Amino acid sequence: RGKRAFIAGVADDHGYGWAISKALAAAGAEILVGTWVPALNIFESSLRRGKFDETRKLPDGSLMEITKVYPLDAVFDSPEDVPEDIKTNKRYLGSSNWTVKEVVESVKQDFGSIDILVHSLANGPEVTKPLLETSRYGYLAAISASSYSYVSLLKHFAPIMNPGGASLSLTYIASERIIPGYGGGMSSAKAALESDTRVLAFEAGRKHNIRVNTISAGPLRSRAAKAIGFIDMMIDYSSENAPLQTELSAEEVGNAAAFLASPLASAITGTVVYVDNGLNAMGVGV
Ligand code: NAD
Repeated sequence: RGKRAFIAGVADDHGYGWAISKALAAAGAEILVGTWVPALNIFESSLRRGKFDETRKLPDGSLMEITKVYPLDAVFDSPEDVPEDIKTNKRYLGSSNWTVKEVVESVKQDFGSIDILVHSLANGPEVTKPLLETSRYGYLAAISASSYSYVSLLKHFAPIMNPGGASLSLTYIASERIIPGYGGGMSSAKAALESDTRVLAFEAGRKHNIRVNTISAGPLRSRAAKAIGFIDMMIDYSSENAPLQTELSAEEVGNAAAFLASPLASAITGTVVYVDNGLNAMGVGV
């Protein structure tokens, strides 16, 4: 039987989630995605209208099939957590069952189980502010959307993940080195995500025989990265200073994710894997 993957955080064809979905599809996995509710309409209509047909192409010439798109807002665990202003927001009214618990219940009803869980989402409302100017609200919102969202997804999905399954998230070097401009508590959120990767690897490994890893990815011009505002500078910096002086492609991160999710990586868990052309290993720029 082929593997079934749920990729949370796909809303266009520019980000890591899309590239990871493609790499998993190319390796034979069935693809389910979780799309942020406010982005759902545009994503689904673009898919339907064939806007992504060029980038849906897999190495064998076929097009990636997304079996089902689930609306998801990973900052809410169950309906009781949703505040009135979101409930009545017109971008949310057209969708239902998009809290983490409900999404997992729907996947269970539709398919029974999954083998691979990918968390490719982050959000920090104050990301453009230095940490020293970040509000408590902004900091906690960054942690909620970018770190706890992973704990919650894994906690709810683990019981329906087949033993031997694998889970992955995406992190960034700003968790461990100073990257001015990656603000709003996002550096803190990535530090939490990496620490949680180790603890969750232990807990989910012992309890469910699931592996848990995170990919520390180099810079990519995704929608989320463009919102931070310094992505072109980061890409140039990497091309100038990394051991490998080529621009990182989302596909390279997708391929690493497919490896980590596969039995080829059966003894790898609790790790941060750098897919960044080696930039993390540099001490000074040259
Ligand atoms: P992206 O815009 O493609 O992906 C982010 C996704 O998160 C979007 O689809 C967005 O709709 C979704 N999202 C935001 N809030 C959400 C919520 N509450 N519930 C559900 N979905 C929500 O951008 P990306 O850069 O590919 O980001 C994917 C992951 O890669 C993130 O964890 C990001 O931090 C990480 N990353 C990115 C870079 C980079 O340079 N782009 C580098 C290292 C790590």
